[in-house]
Amino acid sequence: MEKQRTIIVTGGAGFIGSNFVHFWLEKTNQTVVNLDKLTYAGNLDNLKRWANHPRHIFVNGDIADRQVVSNLLKDHHPWAIVNFAAESHVDRSISAPDDFIQTNVVGTFNLLRESYAYWNALEPDAKEAFRFLHVSTDEVYGSLEKDDPAFSETTPYAPNSPYSASKASSDHLVRAYHHTYGLPTLTTNCSNNYGPYQFPEKLIPLVIHNALQRKPIPIYGDGMNVRDWLYVEDHCAAIGVVLDSGRVGQVYNIGGNNEITNRDIVNTICRILDDWLPGQKDFTHASLIEFVTDRPGHDRRYAIDASKIKNELGWDPQESFATGIARTIRWYLDNAAWVENVTSGAYQRWVKLNYEER
Ligand code: NAD
Repeated sequence: MEKQRTIIVTGGAGFIGSNFVHFWLEKTNQTVVNLDKLTYAGNLDNLKRWANHPRHIFVNGDIADRQVVSNLLKDHHPWAIVNFAAESHVDRSISAPDDFIQTNVVGTFNLLRESYAYWNALEPDAKEAFRFLHVSTDEVYGSLEKDDPAFSETTPYAPNSPYSASKASSDHLVRAYHHTYGLPTLTTNCSNNYGPYQFPEKLIPLVIHNALQRKPIPIYGDGMNVRDWLYVEDHCAAIGVVLDSGRVGQVYNIGGNNEITNRDIVNTICRILDDWLPGQKDFTHASLIEFVTDRPGHDRRYAIDASKIKNELGWDPQESFATGIARTIRWYLDNAAWVENVTSGAYQRWVKLNYEER
């Protein structure tokens, strides 16, 4: 029988973080202490199922707050921290980079500093068992040309947006805390995720949302930018495997082996919606597509070589894009109230009332 143990998850009210909290609470007997600032991207509705569960403790706070982090470590004695908390939207990082530096760089530094102080004072067995897992992105590696080989763990960093530069900085700090102080760190760099609970500013939920509202569906530039897409549950499973069995100090790339152009993503979603929601005669959802001015510095192609995690830890993605995208569209159709809450400001008003004005 597994011992009762605790992990701290940061950013566990966001898209991937909340999927991971579900996954970990279901897979293990462990307690999850979930530290989240509840920015516009964090949403307690994502965690409804576990709202009053004794193994899920939600804490509304900032990863950059020294006192909050040090108290959590002292009070809960975790064997691991999994850091999802971040500002994550490239477009926002272009128009307002400040929060990206504050959370992604300063916040990660604060977590590392406080984790190191906590870890250093642990008894030898607990010290040996402790892990700091930092969740990062393939965007730190920059942009690929059409025939370039996929990113591996040894590809040099070349971040191009304020978002990817802030994530690259945090990855370097994690590396430094391992090399300089011996903190048992793990870093994962993953490709684009899709699935339930993703805020509808990101490509896939935005397209579904706009298509359902019959609003224009914007595509940047010529729409031929390529991303590797991974169903979020596969990402959660990969993080679980790295947390349990990854070699300390190592980096693991995670990807779906699934390179698709933005144009193909949008057309696929439109075709599925045409089939599922036959509208008025002659209407196709693709007629809503509008090509708009490209994002400044838009990376052309990302591709991930995930052979290290496959060969070392036996992880492989389970969901094909065809089934994953259908599940995702079905989720957004079945959860119209969730979408309405996060897009209408009703949720933000609720957070203000419950957390900021109490
Ligand atoms: P998200 O924007 O949906 O969620 C981020 C969460 O962090 C939110 O709940 C937010 O409230 C919280 N947060 C923000 N600032 C905070 C702070 N200062 N203190 C505490 N909490 C804070 O992001 P996501 O898409 O779920 O991404 C999670 C992580 O995975 C990020 O680190 C991101 O860089 C990485 N990642 C994302 C993708 C992707 O496709 N979405 C791919 C690879 C890696």
